[in-house]
Amino acid sequence: MQLRSRLLIGLGSLVFMSISMVGGCSRPAKPSEAFVELPNQPAEPPAGAGGSGLLLSELTVETDFEGGSAKVVAIDQQERSIRFEPGGDPRHGWPCWWNFRIRGARPGETLTLRLRALSESIPQSAYGWLKDKPLSLDWASPSRAAWSIDGENWQRTEPGTREGHWMIYRLKATTDALLVAWGPTYTPSRAGEFAHACARQHPAVVKAESLCQSRDGRSVTLLRIAEGPRPIPQRGAIWVQARQHAWESGSSWIAQGFTEWLLADSLEATWLRQHHEIFVVPVMDVDHVASGQGGKEAIPQDQNRDWTDRPHWPEVAAAQAAIRVLIRADRMSAFIDLHNPGPNDRAIHFHTPPDEGTKPGQRAAIDRFNLLAKTHLSKVMPVQEKVVKSGANYNPNWMQMSHCWVAAHAPENTLALCIETPWNIDQSSQEGYRRMGAAIGLTIFKQFHDKDSTSPDK
Ligand SMILES: [Zn+2]
Repeated sequence: MQLRSRLLIGLGSLVFMSISMVGGCSRPAKPSEAFVELPNQPAEPPAGAGGSGLLLSELTVETDFEGGSAKVVAIDQQERSIRFEPGGDPRHGWPCWWNFRIRGARPGETLTLRLRALSESIPQSAYGWLKDKPLSLDWASPSRAAWSIDGENWQRTEPGTREGHWMIYRLKATTDALLVAWGPTYTPSRAGEFAHACARQHPAVVKAESLCQSRDGRSVTLLRIAEGPRPIPQRGAIWVQARQHAWESGSSWIAQGFTEWLLADSLEATWLRQHHEIFVVPVMDVDHVASGQGGKEAIPQDQNRDWTDRPHWPEVAAAQAAIRVLIRADRMSAFIDLHNPGPNDRAIHFHTPPDEGTKPGQRAAIDRFNLLAKTHLSKVMPVQEKVVKSGANYNPNWMQMSHCWVAAHAPENTLALCIETPWNIDQSSQEGYRRMGAAIGLTIFKQFHDKDSTSPDK
């Protein structure tokens, strides 16, 4: 895999150069960063339930696919129940995530899924309440589990019930094979396919590129979006990234929903495409996502505490390098890092750098975004009244969080924040996340359009 990826990257680099040299007039100026073209082959095939057509009545569980993760405790063939735990290793992040394929269901029967927390302690935590303790079941047990037949369209179960140390979901099987998961899955392969599909559909507007290669040799999908003749150096840059924490799959769907909104025909999206260059990374921590790990507080370093001068993760180093180029060119308009918060967070909210970590213009940009969010994001999910200023009171390593690093390096007026979208409310569905992505797009438009609207060409 590693060798093949490197070869593809090498080829991609050549292809990228030749495209740049022959760039047609519809292509907006020359690229501002030297990303390589995204390899065309998905690293691994997408996971569908893959119904066998045979009505085997023996229930089995499979996790041998991209993002698969579960430890089976027991399968009771009489009771038609599966007892399981999240499959992640706490050294590779909080074990919240689970995702597996069931085979052998009888269509029409009701299956019982019993989930309990992993009993292993978290080996290294900056959170006092988690030091040397196992992670609470609350993090692994959304009120409704996600399920799918094709791995594309995700529905949710009826609300589960807690019985002691177990969370119990009941699911009526419609086919003999089905996928169940903590949330709608979103893998590195899906990100790559989405980017290629966008580039095919909008060849003059979207470039499907690779931000970098991960430690395990995977390509990190990057979409670069700009439309029309406005020269790149005259465009503000908007950087949207998701999934620095591997288990937070909802954030990737928000990134996709944002991109879908951005590529649609509305006047607002068109204005944004024509006046800015927009970078979208749907999955940052590709290795932990692909291997079904939680990612948060992974050893040696949480990816969102890795924004230092010497980052451990190539994804962080590559994002920093690209953002530094944009800052030097005085183009950095906005940096938005998408996350999912704790199980009891019922409203969307923003983590921002503390006052001592921002310049006055950056603070004003955050206040403006927060005000606009009250109108636009609240149409999709509740919006928390106040932003969370994540300084030393939140985490001793606050300066190593992405939005704080960007604020510290960026000039006056750059908007830098982290958006935390709840995953445990009625609206936290695949569609709800995409709608939130669209609402974030509209909010970004309002943030910049109204500010610039005195110019004659706006
Ligand atoms: Zn997170």
